[in-house]
Amino acid sequence: MRVLITGGAGFIGSHLCERFLQEGHDVIAMDNLLTGNAENIAHLFGNDHFRFVKHDVTHYIYVAGPIDAILHFASPASPIDYLELPIQTLKVNALGTHNALGLAMEKGARFLLASTSEVYGDPLIHPQPESYWGNVNPVGPRGVYDEAKRFAEAITMAYHRSHGLETRIVRIFNTYGPRMRLADGRVVPNFIQQALRHEPLTVYGDGGQTRSFQYVSDLVEGLYKLLHSDEVDPVNIGNPREFTIRQFAELVNEVTNNPAGITIKPDLRITDDPQTRQPDITRACSILGWEPAVEIEDGIRLTVPYFREQLRRLGQLPPDRHST
Ligand code: UDP
Repeated sequence: MRVLITGGAGFIGSHLCERFLQEGHDVIAMDNLLTGNAENIAHLFGNDHFRFVKHDVTHYIYVAGPIDAILHFASPASPIDYLELPIQTLKVNALGTHNALGLAMEKGARFLLASTSEVYGDPLIHPQPESYWGNVNPVGPRGVYDEAKRFAEAITMAYHRSHGLETRIVRIFNTYGPRMRLADGRVVPNFIQQALRHEPLTVYGDGGQTRSFQYVSDLVEGLYKLLHSDEVDPVNIGNPREFTIRQFAELVNEVTNNPAGITIKPDLRITDDPQTRQPDITRACSILGWEPAVEIEDGIRLTVPYFREQLRRLGQLPPDRHST
C-alpha cells in the first residue's frame, strides 16, 4: 500500500509512519509542523519508502501518484493547544477533513479519521460506548475541538453514505508515550517531567476527575486492525483501566521514585473538564479482536527515557536523575 498520514510528524502520526513502514508499505507523512515536530520523523529520512511533505491540509491537498489509504491525524490535540489555536483546530478538522476526503475520492483510497473521546464531552454515561451521543458544550473553550471532531465524523459518514467512500472512524481515548512534547500540557508529559525534576505533581481541580490511559503501541495496533477491517461505524480505542487524576499522580511518583509528592491546584481547574472518562471497548474487542496489552506501570517506564533525554538536552535534569 501507499499510505498518506496527515499529522505524520506528530506524536501519534510518527508512530503510525513507523508501523506502516515496518509492514512494508510506502508512507507519505504530511504536516504543517504547527504542533508536530520534524524531529519525530528525522530517523525515517533517507528511507526510500518514506517521504515528508510540509503542507497545511486546510488548503487543497495535491499528491502525485496513487494512494491506497489516508489516515487523517492532523490536529492540535492537547487542551492547551486547542485553547491557543482555536481557529486552526476548527479549520483542520473541518476544512482539512473535507480536503482529505476529497483526495480519498480522487485516489479511490480508504479513509481513516482520527476522532476522539472528546466527542462524548463531559459524559453522563459511564463508561462510554460508541452508541452514546455525548454531552458537549458547543460554545465553551473545548467546543472548538469537540465540535470540530463531531463535524469531522459527520462529514466522513456523509462521504461514505453519499459517495460510497470506504471510511473508518476511531475514537481515541487518552494516549501517552514517547514523542509527546515537553510543553504539550497534557497530564502524562507534565507529571513525568515534574517527577524527573523532583517536583511535586500538579493535580488540577480536586483531582477526583478520572481518565484511562493507553500506551501508544496499543493504539497503533488498534488503528492498524481497524483500517484493515470492514467496520464503518466509530470504534473506541483506549485502555479501560481508570484512575482519578490524584491516584494517577501517586502512581507516577511510585513508578519514577519521586519523593516530592503532589500539589493540588484548585485554581487550575479547567473549564468543562470532563469529570469521568473510560472507554467501553466491547466493540473493538469483538470486531477487531483487539485489546490493550501494555500495563500503565510498564508504559510509564517505557516513556520516561524519552522525557529524561529531552530534559537532559535542556540541562533541566537533577544530576541524580540521569539513570533512575
Ligand atoms: N491535569 C492535571 N495536571 C496537569 C495536567 C492535567 O491534573 O498538570 C488534569 C486535567 O485537568 C484533566 C486531566 O488531567 O482533568 C487530563 O488532562 P489532559 O490535558 O491530559 O487531557 P484531557 O483528557 O483533558 O484531554
